[in-house]
Amino acid sequence: MKADTKDLATLLTMQHLDMELIRAKKKLSELPQRAAILEIRKKRQAVEDKQTKVAAMRSEAEHVVMRIKDEDERLAARQSETQDKIDESRGDYRSVEALSKDLNGIMKRRVALEADLAEAHAKLAQVNEVQAQITDALNKIVAQENTHVASFQEEGGALTSSIAAAEKKRAELAEALPPELLGTYEKTARKSGGIALARLTGGSCSVCRAAITEGKYLQVVAEAPLSTCPACKRMLVVDE
Ligand SMILES: [Zn+2]
Repeated sequence: MKADTKDLATLLTMQHLDMELIRAKKKLSELPQRAAILEIRKKRQAVEDKQTKVAAMRSEAEHVVMRIKDEDERLAARQSETQDKIDESRGDYRSVEALSKDLNGIMKRRVALEADLAEAHAKLAQVNEVQAQITDALNKIVAQENTHVASFQEEGGALTSSIAAAEKKRAELAEALPPELLGTYEKTARKSGGIALARLTGGSCSVCRAAITEGKYLQVVAEAPLSTCPACKRMLVVDE
């Protein structure tokens, strides 16, 4: 392969950059904060589901309290009407007796409602307490999540900008290479896990470590300064 000293230097720098890029991108995708954020979002979802359920329980408990109060208000009005009637019908024994019976029934029901209301209030207080606990837990989870997100943005942001800088430099290097050489490099990189370039060192390929056999060695040396590794097919810099 035709390449001058400058091209070889450019290729080696590009290879170095590409390895850095592979490392940085891998590190970015494996940042521990990423897993921590996913984990905590799952937790948050579970607590939010609970929150929804408790909100429904609370609205049901409030509804029960309202229903009891409504009924009691209606009964209080009836009680006072009945009492008025009793006061007005002095002398009419039968009517007083019937009205007194009504009044008695109303008062009994109101006593029962008072007990029901106490129970409903207790239930509501219980639900309110659970709701407060859930809100508290949720606030803590959100604070934790924010910490992880900030840390991810900080570390991830630094990685992202160093990746961008390396990519910019790489584009400049690509510009400086003869198109054919660049094409071969890119194609080989795609086929070889991102590492396109190897060096002949001590009769072996520096990347795949295969020893170049005698017959192939002559051919490789004849193609200097840039040949191909017979084993891994990477571009092979021959400078020994
Ligand atoms: Zn090789």
